[in-house]
Amino acid sequence: MNRPILASIHTEAFRHNLNRVRELAPESKIWSVIKARSYGHGLEAALRGLESTDGFALLDIQDARWLRDRGWKGRILLLEGLFHQNELAFAQELACDLVVHCENQIQWLEDFHSKGAKPFNVFLKMNSGMNRLGLNPELYKLAFHRLHALGCHMHHMTHFANADQVDQSPTVGAQLECFNGMIADIAAPTSLANSAAILWHRNALGDWVRPGIMLYGASPTGSYQDIEHAHLQAVMHLHSEIIDIQELRKGDRVGYGGRYEAPEAMRIGVVACGYADGYPRQAKDGTPVWVDGGASDGSGLICPLVGRVSMDMMTIDLRNAPQAHIGSRVELWGAQVPVDDVAQMSGTIGYELLCAVAPRVAVEIK
Ligand SMILES: *Cc1c(COP(=O)(O)O)cnc(C)c1O
Repeated sequence: MNRPILASIHTEAFRHNLNRVRELAPESKIWSVIKARSYGHGLEAALRGLESTDGFALLDIQDARWLRDRGWKGRILLLEGLFHQNELAFAQELACDLVVHCENQIQWLEDFHSKGAKPFNVFLKMNSGMNRLGLNPELYKLAFHRLHALGCHMHHMTHFANADQVDQSPTVGAQLECFNGMIADIAAPTSLANSAAILWHRNALGDWVRPGIMLYGASPTGSYQDIEHAHLQAVMHLHSEIIDIQELRKGDRVGYGGRYEAPEAMRIGVVACGYADGYPRQAKDGTPVWVDGGASDGSGLICPLVGRVSMDMMTIDLRNAPQAHIGSRVELWGAQVPVDDVAQMSGTIGYELLCAVAPRVAVEIK
């Protein structure tokens, strides 16, 4: 038998979340963002669960190749464009749409087209204030016209720095104003909104939305409360089992550094999941872990983390769960415990935990 840790990827939840995006952005087409191995969920599951999307947006051209090999005929957007000039022919062969964010990439295209290539679909990226990727507004129009002159099918694109500020962020307004002002007299389809903008800045959707984290059922803000009413479903359920139980006396300590001291006699469950599986070592005492109650209805209880997470194991307080035994099923995150709750207790966001699930964790696509 293998170690009992398992990540189940629920394609039904992918379908549900994609439908939620459609409901929230009914006028827009959808780039489903599947960078970073689909935020740690794997490309295979994403392709199965999100097959009714309008296109997939990703970073690595090898992932585009994988999608084409698997028969994906819809659109594919290379979210950061090409990293090297010599990938242009490959990108064309794979019929990828390109983000263009800098002068180098424009020159590569000019060069390529001077040799008689077919024009690309281009999403020209404007730096409207985030100051990460994109052309500054003064350079944007000229760049647009240069690519347009090559015959490229042009789209306007920008990315928000603060769309996760739920109460109308003023910087979203400023970025939007900059973007809208610059493109006012150049008609082309637009792409602006990440998950946070789809959820909270509905005046900034554009013709193509770019949801990532909400397709996986986690929160752009890192706080589950913020998305509770959006009715998204967790796609990844990370499970393991209790593999040992310790009976502590009052004052006994648990694990490395003895961080937790038993306030009374109590049982501790040892769970087969540690930081080498991608569970955050920074998780504080009290981080929720769900333990199967053993009832046929699948109900269970929260038994909080106590003591430091080690490489392969973690320890939980079983005082709530007298029925728990070796072999009891445990959910680290998923439908019972939002990944955002674990992230919050660890000083990070759900994105990071999902992306960091380790290769040694077995994956099952449901
Ligand atoms: C990652 C990414 C997204 C998706 O962001 P979420 O916050 O996960 O919705 C959208 N657009 C770009 C350019 C990205 O890099």
